[in-house]
Amino acid sequence: MRSRFALPLALGLALSVGLPVAAQWTPSAEPLDLTAMHQIRTEGFEHSQVMTIESYLTDVYGPRLTNSPDMRQAADWAVKEMQGWGLANVHEEPWPFGRGWANDRFVALAVSPRAYPLIAYTKAWTPGTNGPVTAEAVYAPMESEADFARYRGTLKGKFVLISPIRDPEAHFEPQGRRFTRDDLQKLSMAPEPGQGPNEALRRMFLARRAFNEKLNHFLLDEGVAAVIESSRGDDGTVFVQSGGSQDPKAPPVPAQVVMAVEHYNRIARTLEKKIPVTLQFDIRNAFYDKDLNSFNIVAELPGTDKADQVVMLGAHFDSWHSGTGATDNAAGSAVMMEAMRILKESGVKLRRTVRLALWTGEEEGLLGSKAYVLQHFGDPKTMALKPEQAQVSAYFNVDNGTGAIRGVYLQGNEAVAPIFARWMEPFHDLGMRTLTIRNTGGTDHLSFDAVGIPGFQFIQDPIEYQTRTHHSNMDLYDRVQPGDMMKNAVIVASFVYDAATRDDLLPRKPLPPAPKPTTTQQGGR
Ligand SMILES: [Zn+2]
Repeated sequence: MRSRFALPLALGLALSVGLPVAAQWTPSAEPLDLTAMHQIRTEGFEHSQVMTIESYLTDVYGPRLTNSPDMRQAADWAVKEMQGWGLANVHEEPWPFGRGWANDRFVALAVSPRAYPLIAYTKAWTPGTNGPVTAEAVYAPMESEADFARYRGTLKGKFVLISPIRDPEAHFEPQGRRFTRDDLQKLSMAPEPGQGPNEALRRMFLARRAFNEKLNHFLLDEGVAAVIESSRGDDGTVFVQSGGSQDPKAPPVPAQVVMAVEHYNRIARTLEKKIPVTLQFDIRNAFYDKDLNSFNIVAELPGTDKADQVVMLGAHFDSWHSGTGATDNAAGSAVMMEAMRILKESGVKLRRTVRLALWTGEEEGLLGSKAYVLQHFGDPKTMALKPEQAQVSAYFNVDNGTGAIRGVYLQGNEAVAPIFARWMEPFHDLGMRTLTIRNTGGTDHLSFDAVGIPGFQFIQDPIEYQTRTHHSNMDLYDRVQPGDMMKNAVIVASFVYDAATRDDLLPRKPLPPAPKPTTTQQGGR
């Protein structure tokens, strides 16, 4: 490893002559099996199944909200498919989650003074309207408890618009984009020291959640027909998540809907003119509390001389409900399933056992991967570890949408950098050149990192992830980029192959200390 002081000089040199930005870590000299790389590329580029897998997980079986009947059917398909490929030990591992939920019917209409259809979605884990309901709309923006007094006693049986009118801006910037050389250069630089977790943001989040509970309580007491919020974003794109809880003992909440901002604003502006507006909603939602266990899907490719050691790869299988969870995260699940298929079909020989895990409960707080780690490797709260923890070389995760892999977040693991720099060499021609010492958060590799197992998330081109598809009704198959998906499956299969065949386990960071207990922990991306 070169001394860090050479960094500014080397980086300056690299940039001035247009060399790749990952030059700050000298690749290790370990052997690369280019024959295996060729076999993997051939299988992944000439016989790709990744978009077929994606279409089944989305068009046919999407969405996959945790513990919903749809998710169970999608899982049955994935299990059968992987058994059909000849993967070993394909099974579901249950863990305690809570009740399932599904929306079976949703109609939203403006009735008067003009009749027009509304783009809107019910929030997960909320009740329906118990048949079609036609009622008056009220514009009642509420942002603090002080606002309750203004509307108390006036909202019974009405559709209540609680968000203030927001003016969407015109789109002068493209919604989709790829990382530029400059973006990757900045990303490869270490973060400014001393930047801890954003305490102010955490407090704001907790205050908002506490207010939402009081607001739900007030609206339930008022006996509203349903609550309507306007969505972030625009162009008919609606971003919607949960409005209740999977906990069967959770307090009741009112029916809740998120509406496209353009439609929401039309109603609110009409109401501001003191012109009555009548709406009709027919929302049929069902709760499933017979089986409160969800599960993770697991499949393996047996190793040979080092079969007792394991390389893991995974992605979350669950999604939100208004689209089909195409980029979040059928894209990651399909790439990981395809990587397993490629390793199997290409016939490359694995020394360590390769284990795939498709998690559920990620959107609700990384619940599935946390349950798996607790069951197999150890307890991050006490750092009491199980023997299997020492047998896992690494865990690789994909959960940043459909975009092409451009590098790896090292999650603070310096020692692995030269090795990854070496493994990236065969993929420079696919645009993968960047390593960064930075952490990245909010997804399942964190569950492994928390018990000292090297867990990595890849750096991916953003495409339209934050601007269009992440948790929205437009998270659909058509937003998935086939070329990117094929590259990602080949790169993941290769990294897993390298980890499963090198002589040693991947180097680890020092074990994290048992954390001090905190009040709240939230997760899910
Ligand atoms: Zn996700």
